[in-house]
Amino acid sequence: MQKYFVPSEQFGDESIQITGNDAHHIMNVMRLKPGAEILVSDGEKREAVVVIEQCSADGVEARIVEMRDFDREPSVQVTIAQSLPKGDKMELIIQKCTEIGAVHFMPFVSERTVVQYDSKKEAKRLERWGKIAKEAAEQSHRNVVPTIEASMNWKALMSQFASYDLVLICYEDERGTMLRDVLEAFAPTEGDMQNRTVKQARIMVVIGPEGGFTSQEIHSAVEAGARCVSLGRRILRAETAGMAACACIMYQFGEMGGM
Ligand code: SAH
Repeated sequence: MQKYFVPSEQFGDESIQITGNDAHHIMNVMRLKPGAEILVSDGEKREAVVVIEQCSADGVEARIVEMRDFDREPSVQVTIAQSLPKGDKMELIIQKCTEIGAVHFMPFVSERTVVQYDSKKEAKRLERWGKIAKEAAEQSHRNVVPTIEASMNWKALMSQFASYDLVLICYEDERGTMLRDVLEAFAPTEGDMQNRTVKQARIMVVIGPEGGFTSQEIHSAVEAGARCVSLGRRILRAETAGMAACACIMYQFGEMGGM
């Protein structure tokens, strides 16, 4: 069943109005007709199975058949902090990490970031990234749409470290500490997970640009409270590293399988 996020105010007690791009998608891309069922969410944990009643130029009107409170959100909140990569790789990162379960993205500029940061393009880019997150969240039936911050500098990123339970900076030259070691020590035990006594941990994963981090950046991140970790002996591309780390975190928190 196709899923759509609609603003809260369009979510009535019995019916839901779907307008704009989503209505276009339902009518002209999916070619759904009255009688077809879809899933609609307000992005704040209200989710309903609805049946389409009417399609018109004003949009789609749908009747609520069943409210669902099925929560597909992970028990760990992962933020991907990504040094701006070249081309449209950030789009891929947002799309894939949303599928895997990340809740927040923080693009940043570091010393070896090669793309020219253009503040004039920022609003447009954020809008595009938001759309990608929304579509990926719909695709993977998430309950919430991940949020994306405007690009920031390295100092601003580090000033956020303190509000996380764990900050992992991924560094290909790290030889001592493996991602697994830190996650095994940090994540809840099997018993805690079964008892659901786990508090929602907030973890930030910091990934460098194509050219990697400088040793000073690693040093300053560790001073600011981050743990420097290796993702193994192979060098991953900038766009692969976040997805891989995010999947490992989900696995360690029991999020890759079961219900
Ligand atoms: N230019 C560097 C590689 C950068 S890879 C070089 O050739 O040595 C881009 C980013 O992905 C890195 O900054 C790091 O954050 C992450 N990364 C890639 N492979 C990694 C690994 N094996 N362990 C930890 N981090 C890795």
